[in-house]
Amino acid sequence: MANQAPFRYDAEVDPGDTRHVRCEISETYLGDPIEIPVTIINGEHDGPVVYISAALHGDELNGVKVVQEVADRYEPTDIHGTLVCLHVCNVPGYLAQQRYIPIYDLDLNRSFPGKAGANTAERMANALYSTFISQCDLGIDLHTSTRNRTTMYHVRADMENPAVERLSRSFGSNLVLSGEADGSSLRSVATNDGIPTITVEMGRAHRFQPALIDRALAGIESVFAEYEIVPEATVSWPGWTKIINSSDEKTWLRADTGGLVEMTYEHPLVYQGETICRITNHFKTREKVVTAPFTGLIVGVLQNPVAAPGHPLCHFVSVDETTAAEIEREIESGEFSEDAWI
Ligand SMILES: [Zn+2]
Repeated sequence: MANQAPFRYDAEVDPGDTRHVRCEISETYLGDPIEIPVTIINGEHDGPVVYISAALHGDELNGVKVVQEVADRYEPTDIHGTLVCLHVCNVPGYLAQQRYIPIYDLDLNRSFPGKAGANTAERMANALYSTFISQCDLGIDLHTSTRNRTTMYHVRADMENPAVERLSRSFGSNLVLSGEADGSSLRSVATNDGIPTITVEMGRAHRFQPALIDRALAGIESVFAEYEIVPEATVSWPGWTKIINSSDEKTWLRADTGGLVEMTYEHPLVYQGETICRITNHFKTREKVVTAPFTGLIVGVLQNPVAAPGHPLCHFVSVDETTAAEIEREIESGEFSEDAWI
């Protein structure tokens, strides 16, 4: 055993211990505590402190399953460092099965680092941040698309920041949307505080999607290998990678007519001029065909099949010929699984 320290919150978790704890971050109208479930696995060996957080948006459930599995999977004897598994960050939103904290619809992920004496969300963010996040060396924050949409499995990370780039590359997602996050999001605040953090966007709200959950678990294991948190961990490397920078062409394709939307693309890779969807009126007397303005990937897509003018249909980003060919090879190899993407 090296000089691994106890992990302190309002109690102590000694090196070699796993503790499932409930940490009070607010109170209900009844004055009862609102407690978030947290698992702390303090390894026997010295190493970095990593947080993995889920359900900052209360209806984004894929990450909740990922955190449950991580908390169950690793023993302190295997760990060089400490895992801080934040199972459900936004408990009021989770109980209501909605994105925001129900009281005044506050966005917990726009409330960091928070402060005492401020509004409900900022107080909760402050409790989370000061108790757990501030003690960590790096972090992975798990999200999904908002309801009525789905998103291709991808990472959001500021690839200009070398520490974040290392974390993002080791996680090994095919697709990375590079850029700084909103200023009061957990990713932005933690990263600016010297705690490199990536966001993982995975699929749909209100669902468990096993293929995406497995990919996130493999990504976390790869991070553990890179930082030697679990030195013998397996690295999963994606077949292709595409980092989308602010200079890349990207757009939200929007409906210009109202009606019923039928997505007709076969794969998220769509070539310039190919049809993405059709919008018809109820009599089928009018049809608007929406085509790809350039060759690209459908990163996010509408799930609700009705649209009015201006409604976003899909988030579309350009890919170069080399990446398109790599994706094409994966599709042809039969390894391509739409379940594992979107
Ligand atoms: Zn989210």
